[in-house]
Amino acid sequence: MSMIRSWVDSANDPEGDFPLNNLALGVFDPGDGPRCGVAIGDRIVDAAALEANGLLDLGPRLCDRPCWNALMAAGPKAWDAFRARMTALLREGAPEQARVAPHLHPMGSATLHLPFTVAEFTDFYAGRHHATNVGTMFRGAENALPANWLHIPIGYNGRASSVVVSGTPVRRPWGQVKAPDDSAPRFAPSARFDFELELGAIVGQPSTGPVSVAQAQDMIFGYVLLNDWSARDIQAWEYQPLGPFQSKATATTISPWIVMRAALDPFRAAPPDREVPLLPHLSDAGRDFHDITLAVTLTPEHGTPETIARTNTRELYYSPAQQLAHHTTSGCPMRVGDLIGSGTISGPTPDSRGSMLELSWGGQTPIDLNGAPRAFLENGDTVTLSGAAIGEGYRIGFGPCGGTILPARQNPYAP
Ligand code: CA
Repeated sequence: MSMIRSWVDSANDPEGDFPLNNLALGVFDPGDGPRCGVAIGDRIVDAAALEANGLLDLGPRLCDRPCWNALMAAGPKAWDAFRARMTALLREGAPEQARVAPHLHPMGSATLHLPFTVAEFTDFYAGRHHATNVGTMFRGAENALPANWLHIPIGYNGRASSVVVSGTPVRRPWGQVKAPDDSAPRFAPSARFDFELELGAIVGQPSTGPVSVAQAQDMIFGYVLLNDWSARDIQAWEYQPLGPFQSKATATTISPWIVMRAALDPFRAAPPDREVPLLPHLSDAGRDFHDITLAVTLTPEHGTPETIARTNTRELYYSPAQQLAHHTTSGCPMRVGDLIGSGTISGPTPDSRGSMLELSWGGQTPIDLNGAPRAFLENGDTVTLSGAAIGEGYRIGFGPCGGTILPARQNPYAP
C-alpha cells in the first residue's frame, strides 16, 4: 500500500496525519453549526455540504448532523461506499475537484466537537505490561496478574456522560482518599491525578446476543485515541472489590478524529504469544491487532512539551474484537456508538509506560520533566496523546488527543 495522492496538496505530506488513505471523520463547526467533516491534509471537507450538493449520495442524508452515528448505523456496505466515493472525489485528477474545493475549511481554525454520540463506555484492562506493573505495585510481584487475566479481558462499565473531545479542560476531582498509613479516610482533591494512554474502539453495528471474535471485528467502525483520566488516590481506596468508580468518572478524553477500521487494514498485526491458550470463543480470529505507534507528551504550565512515553498498540494482549466479543458473552446487547477502551497500553521498557503511576512507579521514582522531578499531574499540565500507523511514505494519524488540568474546585460540600 502506498499513499493515494490528493489534489489537496497538504494531504500529500508524508509526515501529515491525514492523507487520502486516512479519511478520518470528525464533527466541526465552521461558524453556522456543527456537522460531519472529513480530514484531508490540513483541511476539513464539509461532508454535509457534499451531500447537499449531490456530490455524496448514500441514500438518506447521513452527514448533516453533529455526529457520525447515522453512517455507523447504515452498516459496513455504506462505510465502504462512503470511503470509495470520498476517495474518488479527493484523489488527484478528480473531475469533481472544482465542485468540492469550495467545501474545504482550514482545520487549524475549526472548532471540533465529539465526533460521535457515545452510547455507552466500557473500559478494559488488556495491556499486559500495564496490568503487571499496576498489580506489582498494588499487590506485589507474586500476585501481579490476577488469576483470570490470561483467560478473559477484564473490564468495567464506565460512563458515557463524561467522555469529552480533545481540548476540553479537565478539572482535578475531589474524592474520598485514604493512604495505607492514614487512620481514617478524608475528602480531598486528588493529589495523584493521572492519565492513561489507550485506544478506543467504536461499535458501529448493534448486537443482541453473543458474537464471535470475527463478528465483533466486523462490528467495529473505527478507532480513536483515548485518555482515561484516573485519580490514583481515590482509586486505591475505592477499587476493592468492585473495581474503579469515581476515580475514573471525572472525564475521558478522546481524539476529535475517528480513524475508520478500513484505513488501518494495511497495518494489521499478529496476536501476541500466549502462554496459556484462550478458550475457543475468545481465540484469535486472525490479524485483528494493529501496529499503531503511540506517544504521550506532557507540557507543564509555562514549560516546554516533553515526550514522556512511546509505545505501540501491539502491546495489547486482547484485541478490541476480543474485548467486544467477551463483552457480549452474557448476552449483553451492544449499541451503535458504544465506546470500548482498550486499557492502558504500556510497553516493556520504563520509557514505554502509559501512565504516570507506572512512569514514576507509584511516585517512588519521579521522572525528570523540564529539569524538575515529577510524579503525578499538576494543575496547568497539558497531556497530549498522539498515534499513527506508519506506512511507506505516509501515515494514518488521529490528530492530537489533549487536555489541560484545571485546579480543583473549592470544597463542593463546604458549609
Ligand atoms: Ca483505563
